[in-house]
Amino acid sequence: MTDITRYGFDQDYQQLFDLVDRYSKDVLHPLADPMDNEDFFPRDAYRALAEIGILGLTVPAEYGGAGLDESAQALAAHAMAKWNPSMSLSYIASDNLFAHNLSRNGSDYLKERYLPKICDGTYLAALGMTEPGAGSDALGSMATKARREGDNYILNGRKLYITNGPEADVILVYAKTSPEKGAQGISAFVVEKDFPGFQVAQKLDKMGYRGSPTGELVFDDCVVPASNIVGLEDRGVRVMMSGLDIERAVLAAHCVGLCERALELSVEHAKTRQQFKRPIGDHQLVQRMLAHMYTDTASMRAFCYLILRECCAVEAGEAGRGEIHMRTAASVLLSGMAINRVMDNGMQIHGGMGFMRETEINRLYRCAKVLEIGAGTREIRELIVGSELLKL
Ligand SMILES: Cc1cc2nc3c(=O)[nH]c(=O)nc-3n(C[C@H](O)[C@H](O)[C@H](O)COP(=O)(O)OP(=O)(O)OC[C@H]3O[C@@H](n4cnc5c(N)ncnc54)[C@H](O)[C@@H]3O)c2cc1C
Repeated sequence: MTDITRYGFDQDYQQLFDLVDRYSKDVLHPLADPMDNEDFFPRDAYRALAEIGILGLTVPAEYGGAGLDESAQALAAHAMAKWNPSMSLSYIASDNLFAHNLSRNGSDYLKERYLPKICDGTYLAALGMTEPGAGSDALGSMATKARREGDNYILNGRKLYITNGPEADVILVYAKTSPEKGAQGISAFVVEKDFPGFQVAQKLDKMGYRGSPTGELVFDDCVVPASNIVGLEDRGVRVMMSGLDIERAVLAAHCVGLCERALELSVEHAKTRQQFKRPIGDHQLVQRMLAHMYTDTASMRAFCYLILRECCAVEAGEAGRGEIHMRTAASVLLSGMAINRVMDNGMQIHGGMGFMRETEINRLYRCAKVLEIGAGTREIRELIVGSELLKL
């Protein structure tokens, strides 16, 4: 068990972490292989997360949530990621990218309409920002548009690589309401899967995180009630940038979970696999790989927990710029690079066996690369940190 009180979290956080860790080990870990092999998302298992109280962790109690902070949510994602990374990724997309964002920025009407169903597991949610022509330049190149017609907005465009997209009941979608204003003309909307003009174009076939469904979504004259706008018209960029900061801090914690499991598996393998008539762990070059795995994991854990606590201290409107913007980018930059080193060492320790798809280390290894791509690529994270440093 990870002792998170060593990092300044109190016993309440530790209890939550231990609860999710135990539950994930017993219930979600056995699902990880079938989810990967068959690329299926077990909706029942997701819904059951409501029974242990971790859906809507940051949603206020009046809407059915636990009313806890971002650290609690990140710790739950971390504990879950250790045993089932795909479920943890889908959990982050629904509970953090959608529900946390809506809790902070939505009207009372939207919160009442959607959050209770997120909290009881009825709804799975997603966030749609990336497009075929708008990845790293998500703001500038965004082509999805929304025009006002009477009591509705009419959305046209496509969103790509959307976690939970093929299964989601509700999606937080960014679109340009005033394209001539560029990034200052973006608004956010909640789209239900049954709204006319919405369609899942395709479910994508991924190398890792199989089981967590990823898809392309199409909005073809999609009719969205005007009451489903999140925040004010043309003010979506603040919603988006502050949400991204929190997402990066949570995703960094998710990385720690995968690394802890890879280290456990590698220590076990180093103790049991014999070569040259000794356990391979007796060979000092193998010990070096374990030492590097441990050091990378321990440093990413310490830094990401520190940044999480800083996130919790930031007022809702303050994220998305300045020091917290830089430090959340730095946290996920470190975690994304470190997890790739950890998985490389873990795979190396497992030798040929690690290259086999059926092994757990192989499944974890196949997840690592996207952690330097999603939520802003490694280069975009570097640009944020570098440019903020030069402003100081
Ligand atoms: C599994 C998965 C899940 C995802 N989930 C979601 C989701 O739920 N919602 C969502 O909205 N998006 C999601 N994404 C999208 C993700 O955020 C984007 O893939 C990411 O932002 C990068 O965009 P891109 O893939 O278009 O790459 P590109 O922007 O085309 O980048 C390609 C390369 O060019 C580099 N590059 C681009 N611009 C610069 C620059 N200015 N300076 C230096 N290098 C640069 C990049 O760093 C990268 O190395 C997901 C992606 C994946 C793979």
